[in-house]
Amino acid sequence: MNKTHLGHTARKRFGQNFLNDEYVIGQIVSAIAPKNGENLVEIGPGLGALTEPVCEEVSALTVVELDRDLAKRLRHHPFHADKLNIVEQDALTLDFEALLASLPDSVSPLRVFGNLPYNISTPLMFHLFDFAHCIADMHFMLQKEVVNRLAAGPGSKSYGRLSVMAQYYCQVMPVLEVPPHAFVPPPKVDSAIVRLIPHKTPPISVNSVNILERICAQAFNQRRKTIRNSLKDSVTEDEIVSLGLDPTARAETLSLHDFGQLANLVYQKEV
Ligand code: SAM
Repeated sequence: MNKTHLGHTARKRFGQNFLNDEYVIGQIVSAIAPKNGENLVEIGPGLGALTEPVCEEVSALTVVELDRDLAKRLRHHPFHADKLNIVEQDALTLDFEALLASLPDSVSPLRVFGNLPYNISTPLMFHLFDFAHCIADMHFMLQKEVVNRLAAGPGSKSYGRLSVMAQYYCQVMPVLEVPPHAFVPPPKVDSAIVRLIPHKTPPISVNSVNILERICAQAFNQRRKTIRNSLKDSVTEDEIVSLGLDPTARAETLSLHDFGQLANLVYQKEV
C-alpha cells in the first residue's frame, strides 16, 4: 500500500490519510463555502488538500497542525504561506476561545473544518463542544461510523453519549459518504462529511452540562442495563418514575429531553 504522498510518508500516529480525490475535495470546500473576512480554522491541514482550495477563496486562514514537518512545509508553501496563521499545536488541548481572541476580528465566531485524524476524532469532538459558544459552524471528514453516532436518535444502535452531547450542542447534518480510495493511504473504514451548527439556544434547558455528561456516561457505559441499575448511584427508581420515565428502560431509548430531565433532577439533589 502506498503511504507516500507528495513526498511525505504518512504517519499512522498522527492519523494521516491524505485526501486525493478532486471531487470529494470540491464537495467539502463547497459545503464550507469559505468567504473572505471569516475566522476560518482548519484542523490538520497536512499537505494542504483542503488548505489550498480554501486559500484560493480567502486572504487569511488559521491552521492547527501537530506534525512539525507538515507545519514546516506549510510555512514554506510556495503560494499561500503569507495567508496562513500556523498554530503548531495539539488540537485536543488548544484553547479555541483564546485562539479567537488572538485573531484580528475577535468578535466573529470561528468556522472550523478539517479532515480529522480518526484516532482522536471522538475526544476532539468533545473538546470542540466545550467551545461551541465561539464557533459558528464545523465541517469535518470523520469515520462514517462516528458521523452515524453524531446523528443517531433513540432506538438506533449508533445512539450513545456522543449523539446526546452532539445534539445538545449542535444541529448535526451528514453531508456526503466518502469511500476509502479517496485517501492516500486509504483508511480501513468508510468516511463521511458532516456539518455541525452550534445551537444559539440549546434545545433543552439543563442546569449543569457536566451533570448531563455524567448521567449520559453512566447510562451508556452500561447500555444493556436498565436505567434503574445503571443510574442507581444518582437517582432512585421512584425519582425516575416521578419524571414519567420507565425505570426498566435502557439508555438507548431515552431522548435528549429525557436525559435533560434526569440531569436536572440530579442537579437539584446535589447542589
Ligand atoms: N487535511 C489533510 C488532507 O485532507 O489530506 C490531512 C488530513 S489527515 C487525516 C489529519 C491531519 O491532522 C494530519 O495532517 C495530521 O498530522 C494532523 N493531526 C494529527 N493529530 C493532530 C492533532 N492532535 N492536532 C492537530 N493536528 C493533528
